[in-house]
Amino acid sequence: MKCIGVLALQGAFKEHIDIIESLGHKGVEIRKVEDLNSIDGLILPGGESTAMGKLLVDFNLKEILIQKIRDGLPVWGTCAGMILLAKEIVDDKTTHLSLMDIVVRRNGYGRQLGSFKVNGIFKGIENKISMVFIRAPYIESVGKDLEVLGKIDEKIVAAKENNMLVTSFHSELTDNLETHRYFINMIDR
Ligand code: GLN
Repeated sequence: MKCIGVLALQGAFKEHIDIIESLGHKGVEIRKVEDLNSIDGLILPGGESTAMGKLLVDFNLKEILIQKIRDGLPVWGTCAGMILLAKEIVDDKTTHLSLMDIVVRRNGYGRQLGSFKVNGIFKGIENKISMVFIRAPYIESVGKDLEVLGKIDEKIVAAKENNMLVTSFHSELTDNLETHRYFINMIDR
């Protein structure tokens, strides 16, 4: 059994905890530095990246997270979580954890009509999975050591760099458990 932390400052964290538990693992809400002690992996959920980025600073979590992820803690950023991990955000000077070699476009599908659901291919998962996009970012370009895991309409929506996984979409809002299984399998590799 793995112990998976989910950053719980803001956004869609509860749904991730429920899926982790339904897969027989332990989900831990992360709000303070001590919560990080026992975890084997960490999910940065969807929500609002600007707000979450500020809260990471206010709760003294930013520096320790950077350190732990650099040291190899497996991390999965969904949607806003992807933005938190990116080294570059298009048309924006701000970065947050700035760890992953991706250039991300926020609200890549437009702000108003930006929510939709599709079935898409995710490399490493056998069947197409259900992907929900909510004012989602997409990845405009990736560094050379990155593995692209999914594209929808030529836009990169899933990628992996060593211990870091990012997806533009929310799997926690669908009945697809496969992306969570994929992430849990990244632990101890
Ligand atoms: N649009 C949000 C942002 O830029 C992300 C949306 C989401 O996480 N569903 O932070």
